[in-house]
Amino acid sequence: AYDVLVVGGGPAGASAAIYAARKGIRTGIVAERFGGQVMDTVGIENFISMKYTEGPKLAASLEEHVKEYNVDVMKLQRAKSIEKKDLIEVELENGAVLKSKTVILSTGARWRNIGVPGEAEFKNKGVAYCPHCDGPLFAGKRVAVIGGGNSGIEAAIDLAGITSHVTVLEFLPELKADSVLQDRLFSLPNVTVYKNVQTKEITGTDKVNGITYIERDTGAEKHVELEGVFVQIGLVPNTDWLVDGIERTRFGEIVVNSHGATSLPGVFAAGDCTNSPYKQIIISMGSGATAALGAFDYLIRH
Ligand code: FAD
Repeated sequence: AYDVLVVGGGPAGASAAIYAARKGIRTGIVAERFGGQVMDTVGIENFISMKYTEGPKLAASLEEHVKEYNVDVMKLQRAKSIEKKDLIEVELENGAVLKSKTVILSTGARWRNIGVPGEAEFKNKGVAYCPHCDGPLFAGKRVAVIGGGNSGIEAAIDLAGITSHVTVLEFLPELKADSVLQDRLFSLPNVTVYKNVQTKEITGTDKVNGITYIERDTGAEKHVELEGVFVQIGLVPNTDWLVDGIERTRFGEIVVNSHGATSLPGVFAAGDCTNSPYKQIIISMGSGATAALGAFDYLIRH
């Protein structure tokens, strides 16, 4: 059995595994895809101390760093259930059952896609999901934000300060964001909001050059020329496989305390799968370290 079993091999999981292994305890890490979302990222400019790096390169260094330590790395394996018996048991999709005194969940999250033509084609070529990450790439350019919930309107306000113009597209007749955010949004000179519209297509040649939408009440089709589209219709945590004993928010995020502990004793969590308010590489790594130290503290007390 392991002392610490980490489920998920993104920045949070890699950091947790290294912090655990450095305590000299038996550590394992299971990951469906080592590197996680970082593998889908092209340029990274906000990983402090590195002016610029690229996703696959950072993912490779994460794995290399983990392998410097005595960690069992189980790649291309997906966990399908977790149960607390004498030890905590994690069952993999291949039928194997891994046992551990503590488990750190770091299964991350995925951005919900809008699923219109052009989205997949122009990912990283004008289609973006993270304003903190990619906003500065659109400095002085025109962008759209799809989604009028809190994250969409926060993104629009943020982007209005960087880009020349922001078009907000909301499917419903009203924005769902908090009114304080809406007031702020409507006070900005370079923002246009279209409500009750359906995004039809993100257009472009080698990169994005516009967005086409349909007015739902008239059926009229409209086109806006722009250089970037931020899809802000939700970040879904990869937590649907967990048991009820692990408290989650209504969005499915695992609730953790300041030590990274979940509501199930011995189970910790870190990174984008948790209720951490901001989802970034550096934040995930910090929370992975916290969860590993939290797990170590738990082990020396049990
Ligand atoms: P993830 O990176 O999501 O990793 C989750 C891990 O869990 C993966 O290994 C996955 O395979 C594994 N997993 C999931 N379910 C299971 C399961 N059931 N069993 C086993 N393994 C499982 N952040 C920045 O700071 N700067 C940026 O520039 C930046 N750009 C981004 C660009 C894009 C396109 C995207 C999508 C994200 C970007 N982010 C950026 C956000 C950043 O990538 C995430 O915040 C970070 O990767 C979260 O780390 P994590 O370890 O919590 O989760």
